[in-house]
Amino acid sequence: MTAEEAPAAPVAPAGAAGPDEAAPAPALQRLSELVRRVNSSTDTAEVLEEIVHGVCEVLGYGVAAIARLEGDTLVMTAVAGPDDVRRQVLGRRTPAAEILDEFRQADRWGILRFVPHGRMDNARLTAAWIPDFEPDDDPMAWHPEDALYAPLYSATGGLLGNMAVDLPTGNRIPSVHERELLEMFVVQAGLALSNAQQRERLAEQVRLGSTVKEVAQAGSQPGIEAILSDACRAVQRGLDATQVWIRCYPDEDRANGVAAGHPRPSPTGAGVATLRADLSELWPSADPVVVHVSDETCDRLPSSLPKLQQMMTSVGAFQVVVMPMGVALSLLGYVVIGFPGSRGPLRASELDAIAEIARELGRSVHSARLLETEQRLVSELRELDRYKGELITTISHELKTPLTTIIGHAELLGELHEHRSVEAITRNAERLNRLVQNLLDYSRVQDRRAAVRVDVDVIDSCRAAIDLVAHLADTGRVGIELVVCCEQVSVSGDPEDLSLVVDNLVSNAVKYTRPGGTVRIEVACDEGEVRVSVRDSGLGISEADQVHLFSAFHRSSNPEALSIPGTGLGLAISRRIVESHGGRIEVESVVGEGSTFTLALPRAPRRTP
Ligand code: ADP
Repeated sequence: MTAEEAPAAPVAPAGAAGPDEAAPAPALQRLSELVRRVNSSTDTAEVLEEIVHGVCEVLGYGVAAIARLEGDTLVMTAVAGPDDVRRQVLGRRTPAAEILDEFRQADRWGILRFVPHGRMDNARLTAAWIPDFEPDDDPMAWHPEDALYAPLYSATGGLLGNMAVDLPTGNRIPSVHERELLEMFVVQAGLALSNAQQRERLAEQVRLGSTVKEVAQAGSQPGIEAILSDACRAVQRGLDATQVWIRCYPDEDRANGVAAGHPRPSPTGAGVATLRADLSELWPSADPVVVHVSDETCDRLPSSLPKLQQMMTSVGAFQVVVMPMGVALSLLGYVVIGFPGSRGPLRASELDAIAEIARELGRSVHSARLLETEQRLVSELRELDRYKGELITTISHELKTPLTTIIGHAELLGELHEHRSVEAITRNAERLNRLVQNLLDYSRVQDRRAAVRVDVDVIDSCRAAIDLVAHLADTGRVGIELVVCCEQVSVSGDPEDLSLVVDNLVSNAVKYTRPGGTVRIEVACDEGEVRVSVRDSGLGISEADQVHLFSAFHRSSNPEALSIPGTGLGLAISRRIVESHGGRIEVESVVGEGSTFTLALPRAPRRTP
């Protein structure tokens, strides 16, 4: 319906009713009753029935009928008049274009259209209902082929329906006054249809909105299969579709795509590939493409049209909407929605909702794929880490056996007084032995919780560590002091592992302290934890080095520290052990002044004697 086809503002017909021709009381009474019904009732069919009956009963027409626009067809929905006429006319469908054509040839009587006999073309005459009586010669007499209509428009000028009357009172062409009364009923019919349209639009908005929301919620399902299958159901239900197919194409990470269909499963075969080729040409334009089962060509889906129509026929769909689905520049798949023959053309609001559904799905599929990729990478990394651990263990074992033999033989040689070279062999073999031992410890403590759990006396561990480094401290002239601030304290854990930590902290403190420096070990505790801090007046560690201090193989960049033999594994091993015991290890250090390493472990629960 174009603006041109909309009616002109009602013009007062020539010779309008004068005061002496006031509307009869029953007509006004019926009208006021109708106005009330039109404004209060939500049953449009009932209101339309009342209008056509009012027109017959109070205005005296033999037949009155109202047709509603459905898509591009006018469907006769309310008819008043003799039973046989009602039977013939009810449900009759006429293309709206034909009636609009007829209006163009009609005389304008205000908002009414009168087509006098002889003006209507033969095809229309055959289709229309023509009363069966002999025409009269009187020019004011109603002729069986005369037609009187009233197009019904919405406030915005869209055609909503048509009202037609026949057999006026006394079989005479209605007077101006009679037409005015008829116009009042027509206005009520227009209002009833307009109200109905608004209600339907509102309900449709709610329905489409909740369908889009359901599709968005499907996005939180685990995995693309579940997302697509939930979305298919929501779309089929929400749009009252015959069939929904959603397909997600394979990507570089996945050999197989994912497809879902409801109520029938997704199709396979050559059609899928041709549709993909067509959609690739269209993307990134994301407008829905509407295809009818009887279309002979389709510009936007040139190669896939025949296959698509085959698919439509197999599920009884008369029109389908094909909507590409993707994000940014990548086409991820499509959404195809089939509708039955009873459906009129899809409205703009429905096509907008379908486009929004595809956008939502595109976003959900994209996020789900990112998540899948992330999970795969994490498990690959875990596998790699496991493999690395295994490798370290294997290599270390392979190295350790010959090393032990070398050390043994070097000691034998030492007894034979080959001092210089024997010392060199021993020193280097022991260095290698330390590295191998560290590697074995490192791989042993990886990703595991402390297996052994016994009470370990921390003060004993500190004393044992001091004994271990006593020789080194003497040689390097480093003084060691142990300060114990609480009574005997225990933590629960693996004694061997915990000694490894304390030994490492104490030996590092001595190793990285110049002659004349001091190392102070302090054991303190409170209700919850035991703290061992090892403070030295040594080289200190720069802030940049502190960041990586507990990473495997990290050694300070300080050249003086680097000149002292070490593997860079001790602190990494210590941290793992401490964390597996539910504790923490921290460092404070200033270059040139010294470092303090603090080890904190949860106190062992007190045992009842
Ligand atoms: P290693 O001592 O065998 O190299 P660690 O993991 O125990 O391995 O220590 C890592 C690095 O941290 C050491 O190489 C050293 O540079 C630095 N470091 C550790 N403890 C101290 C300390 N008390 N004073 C100065 N630097 C230290």
